[in-house]
Amino acid sequence: MENLLEEQPKVVQEFQKIISSNMLSHAYLIDSASSQIRQQMAIWLAQSQFCDNLKDGAPDQTCQKCQTIALGDNPDVLEVKTDKQSVGVDDIKSFKKEVSMTATQGKRRILIIDEAEKMTNAASNNLLKTIEEPEGNLMIILLADSAKQLLPTIQSRVQIFHLSNKSNEDEIASLVNAGFKNDQAQKALKVTDIKYLANIDGDKYQSLISGIMNWLKEVNKQKINSFVDIQTDIMPLVENKDQQHLVFDMLNQIFSDILSIRYNLGKSTLTAEDILNNKSIQKVISMSDDLFTAEQMWKSNVSFQAILEDLSLKFVD
Ligand SMILES: [Zn+2]
Repeated sequence: MENLLEEQPKVVQEFQKIISSNMLSHAYLIDSASSQIRQQMAIWLAQSQFCDNLKDGAPDQTCQKCQTIALGDNPDVLEVKTDKQSVGVDDIKSFKKEVSMTATQGKRRILIIDEAEKMTNAASNNLLKTIEEPEGNLMIILLADSAKQLLPTIQSRVQIFHLSNKSNEDEIASLVNAGFKNDQAQKALKVTDIKYLANIDGDKYQSLISGIMNWLKEVNKQKINSFVDIQTDIMPLVENKDQQHLVFDMLNQIFSDILSIRYNLGKSTLTAEDILNNKSIQKVISMSDDLFTAEQMWKSNVSFQAILEDLSLKFVD
């Protein structure tokens, strides 16, 4: 069995510091590594909130309280995992109800959602309300393969912890071989998965970001004909389905960056400038919802160009 403390010492130490200084947030998103390690991380975090022998921010994992949590027998710690294709808004409502039913008031309650990428748009938005206005002493821990698969609104409102993948350094090296600069490669791997960067060099990657940013700047100026930019600035750079996927990942990252700028969270990856500064926060959020829906349509094989052009019209609406 994989062991959290052996495999992820850095992240565990980081959490120990946060817990020791009482700086724990009420919403986390933990991604990368294996689903087993992610679950162990979530359980460890839950144990840290109940353990009788907390030492330097770390639970002993052996006391009765820690064991009860590991066995799934503490009613204040609810871990949910669905067998269904998606997690809908009713599921989220019932999880929230279940975790709030425990009698003891003011006590720590923890909701762990496995495979959070399965949440529908409506489910994500429902959960977002709880993240923005936490109920009582509730901590939410989302687990996913990749944070990028979640709505930008969620990404921007939670603390994201990437567990380390052993392969990460190899991936950076292979991108550097393909003409990426080192820091560019590191950022690119935060934005997308390595498989979507095949056959792309650093220059092309940068041109694609510029093309998307220019399009959004036109959108920001409310230029109705900004959809023309799709054909002139973006389409010539996109040769295949993987690169179309990359465009969606970049767009999601830019929205996440803009929301994080608006919320003063200082987490920008692709842009440190609020290039949608003419749009209200409500509009930015609804644009990011439109983007999520557009990506679903693209996955069901609607033409990439048509989807982006349609999106462009919705954005200037
Ligand atoms: Zn303990």
